[in-house]
Amino acid sequence: MAATTRSVQLVSAQRLVVKIGSALLVDEVTGDIRSAWLETLIADIVRLFSRGQQVIIVTSGAVALGSGQFDGLGRPLRIKEKQTAAAIGQVRLMLAYEQSLKRHGFALGQMLLTGEDMGNQHRRHNAWSTLQQLLKIGAVPVINENDTTATAEICFGDNDRLAAQVAQMVNADLLVLLSNVDGLFTEDPHHNPLARLLTEVRCITPEIEAMAGHSHARHSSGGMVTKLMAARIAMNAGCGMLIARGTERYPLAAIENGAPSTWFVPFGKDRATREEH
Ligand code: GLU
Repeated sequence: MAATTRSVQLVSAQRLVVKIGSALLVDEVTGDIRSAWLETLIADIVRLFSRGQQVIIVTSGAVALGSGQFDGLGRPLRIKEKQTAAAIGQVRLMLAYEQSLKRHGFALGQMLLTGEDMGNQHRRHNAWSTLQQLLKIGAVPVINENDTTATAEICFGDNDRLAAQVAQMVNADLLVLLSNVDGLFTEDPHHNPLARLLTEVRCITPEIEAMAGHSHARHSSGGMVTKLMAARIAMNAGCGMLIARGTERYPLAAIENGAPSTWFVPFGKDRATREEH
């Protein structure tokens, strides 16, 4: 039953935003891109495009890749060093995506955005029209936060929320947050093996918020707290959201085949009646 439901959600979405966390893309030990895994993610995304769906990627990984490449940044990284790491790592990140997409005949369009851009009507409009053009010409939009200009106050290091803002901007039907856990648990599953996975959330109550623990992977910045913030934005925009484990190969196919996940039910707005920017 769950497999069928998730399958329908993924297959029926016309426009999806897929967010990839650093912990999936970057090997914690070597600091390198997990290229074999990335190939399978891109194969999944290409399959969705070939079904007529539009996919927008929001990816993390710049800071993790840059800091792995440059020891001179020192440890621990403060915001300034993280921004420097991002400037270096973003290049490697995009090259990896570009090479992989190119093998399937797809071009990549890089977009660097901030929460502040999303809150500014003019900049948001420009971002939206660029995205539309990219999709129109068949290029895959690959978005990351513009880490070098973002500040802590405007959410440095929060691609979960940025992905939800992008989903809202593009009127996406579905936002998929690929994580290193199966979804939202009643307690932190790293601490309590009896923690139970919630398969569906209709409303983000204080009780649900209390369940959001923190991620333990070295390269993750968000954890469940930012994922719930993302869920709130997406649900209010009428966009369904899935949190699922993305660590295995072909992560989107795995969701379609019934891998565990948490589904955040959108508040009842019909896509056709939503405003186009
Ligand atoms: N923009 C950051 C990066 O590319 C990651 C932010 C996040 O993981 O939320 O490393």
